[in-house]
Amino acid sequence: MFNEDICSKIILPFCSDYHRKRQIFNRSIQKYPSAIIYCENARDAEEAVRYAASKGMEIRVRSGGHNYEGFCIGNKRLVIDTSLLKDKSICEDTQTVRIGSGVNNRELYHYLSQYGYPFPSGTCPTVMAVGLTQGGGWGHSSRMFGLTCDLLVEAELVDPRGNLIVANDREHSDLFWALRGGGGGNFGVITSLTYQLLPKVTKVTYVDIQYSKINDGTSLHFLRTWQKWLLKKENRFTPNSRIFNSEKEGMGIFLRGFFYGTPEEATASVQPFLKICGAKASFRYVTFLEATEIDASVYPPFEKFRFAGRFVCGNYSNRQMVSIIRLVKKRARGSTYASVALYALGGKVRDLSPCETAFYYRKANYIMGIETIWKSPEVQPENLSWIHARFRCLCSLTVGSYINFPYLCTGNYMKAYYGGNAKRLMCIKSKYDPCNLFRFAQSIKPCYASRIYKIRGKD
Ligand SMILES: Cc1cc2nc3c(=O)[nH]c(=O)nc-3n(C[C@H](O)[C@H](O)[C@H](O)COP(=O)(O)OP(=O)(O)OC[C@H]3O[C@@H](n4cnc5c(N)ncnc54)[C@H](O)[C@@H]3O)c2cc1C
Repeated sequence: MFNEDICSKIILPFCSDYHRKRQIFNRSIQKYPSAIIYCENARDAEEAVRYAASKGMEIRVRSGGHNYEGFCIGNKRLVIDTSLLKDKSICEDTQTVRIGSGVNNRELYHYLSQYGYPFPSGTCPTVMAVGLTQGGGWGHSSRMFGLTCDLLVEAELVDPRGNLIVANDREHSDLFWALRGGGGGNFGVITSLTYQLLPKVTKVTYVDIQYSKINDGTSLHFLRTWQKWLLKKENRFTPNSRIFNSEKEGMGIFLRGFFYGTPEEATASVQPFLKICGAKASFRYVTFLEATEIDASVYPPFEKFRFAGRFVCGNYSNRQMVSIIRLVKKRARGSTYASVALYALGGKVRDLSPCETAFYYRKANYIMGIETIWKSPEVQPENLSWIHARFRCLCSLTVGSYINFPYLCTGNYMKAYYGGNAKRLMCIKSKYDPCNLFRFAQSIKPCYASRIYKIRGKD
């Protein structure tokens, strides 16, 4: 049994707020865990893990609940939730910041901005740094400063035996390697993360370029410009873009991001995009924090969606670009928004070798994903089929999948997410979680996974 202290932090199916607390960002995923434990400190996490292990209960670890496929939750699972771990402390002497696993992007940006520091995390305000960092962590500063995981210097986590351990360059350095790109929920319950600080930044230029009511010619011109522009050695700008088909606006494109420089420098840098027919651009000279708030303003509190994200390493021919544009020409029944999403890589991301951390696809030019969003549960099957049918085409044009944008139908997922790092990750998994306590539909397999699955049954 749990001690009395932790009992007050457990949400059970008969609790009045159970149905609210079991929800995650992607509302198309509905799971019914047997209990949710809200950890208020590392001791709670230790106790929760020991309890689950002693009872043979299956665990899910959750912080922000933004995993696209809901790997943070499950039917009849014990969910260990770290969203209440909100501590933050900065040490300017060592140039580090330490945060609890319940700190989200917005909270981290606000905290660091008080001291004048930027931080290369993601665009959605409610995504938690702990989930994002473990998968790599893309954001509008990636080309300038690297992935979020590249700044991680230490993690504290509760291992499968229920012990709090530290992973950094000196202690459990193999695990530290795996936590930087291996994806969340595989090795234990992280309770805190420490990151390196960056040089202070005063202002950035928020670039927003839009093209509305576009035709295929504009999309083609845009894709050609995108792939050529990314090859420039311009680390100051990490744009993301979408070629979208929305219920409200029809076909359109946007390109956004922070430029680390003045509006004049930004305008010169993105000239090729401004030359595309119909471009409407704005260049706002704002503080780093204001730029993150502009990003944040586009996100709803939750939605129903599927998204599959893959890596692009080369350049496309016109014929291939036409197939990409065709992916979103028709929406599924009931879909309110479908898009091909592009996230620039390169710059500092590429400076590390693919095996320096577990994030393998460092040499990719960008991430390309497809997405559909819908509202009514009735149209969910059509939307799932829509993405499934297009995923094959996406795979034929790309090389591997981004673990932070997972898709359940990804075949041979170990290879897809981790490429040449898959074997090393499997060995580290076997060492730190030999009983495969932390497992879910696409978790890292231990080396002897097939034997374990036979004994315990598949997830
Ligand atoms: C709207 C939206 C916008 C996004 N934008 C970006 C973006 O700009 N850049 C980017 O790189 N990604 C982005 N993502 C993807 C996001 O980074 C991942 O979904 C991330 O894993 C979410 O972390 P979370 O803690 O919020 O979610 P959760 O679902 O709670 O956790 C994600 C994974 O980490 C594990 N995990 C959670 N907490 C812990 C813990 N304490 N210890 C160990 N494991 C844990 C979970 O088990 C799960 O596998 C976005 C996702 C959404 C839904």
